[in-house]
Amino acid sequence: MMPAGRGLGGAHGGAPLRDEDDAGWMREALLLAQRARDMGEVPIGAVLVRDGEVLGEGWNCPITRCDPSAHAEIMALRAAASRVGNYRLPGATLYVTLEPCVMCAGAILHVRLARVVFGALDPKGGAAGSVFAVLGTERLNHRVEVQGGCLGEACGEVLQLFFQERRRDSAGPSGYQTVG
Ligand code: ZN
Repeated sequence: MMPAGRGLGGAHGGAPLRDEDDAGWMREALLLAQRARDMGEVPIGAVLVRDGEVLGEGWNCPITRCDPSAHAEIMALRAAASRVGNYRLPGATLYVTLEPCVMCAGAILHVRLARVVFGALDPKGGAAGSVFAVLGTERLNHRVEVQGGCLGEACGEVLQLFFQERRRDSAGPSGYQTVG
């Protein structure tokens, strides 16, 4: 019996299993979205990762905190920056269940993230290409790699269910879509 190869990815030719890693971290972000939902907030979750380590977690909570900036991404960025002791987090990847808005896209650029991986598209407010392309623009100094549609269906369903349930009591917005 041949000994197992180590560290080079075997039959995968040494390429990192990034898609599998991405899906795993997005599942963590989905669990954080449930925390928002449990608080009566729109269920969006985010996790910030660098070198396989979680630096910060966040979930959407503007109503609870009376803070219009308390989006999942901002909460995760704040937690990570505080933990690391640096307002910039180069080389880190943010996983978020919904396409970031303009505010969060701005913060993401200030933090100098390497990558943003998001789940569902937000055709009503997304700033990674849906409405604006703040993330991915070549007009600003910092470029961040953007990938949408990671577990996009699951991320979109969480939001759709939330708004369906809320509409039973009153009218509410929806329109979140999935990609991929
Ligand atoms: Zn936002």
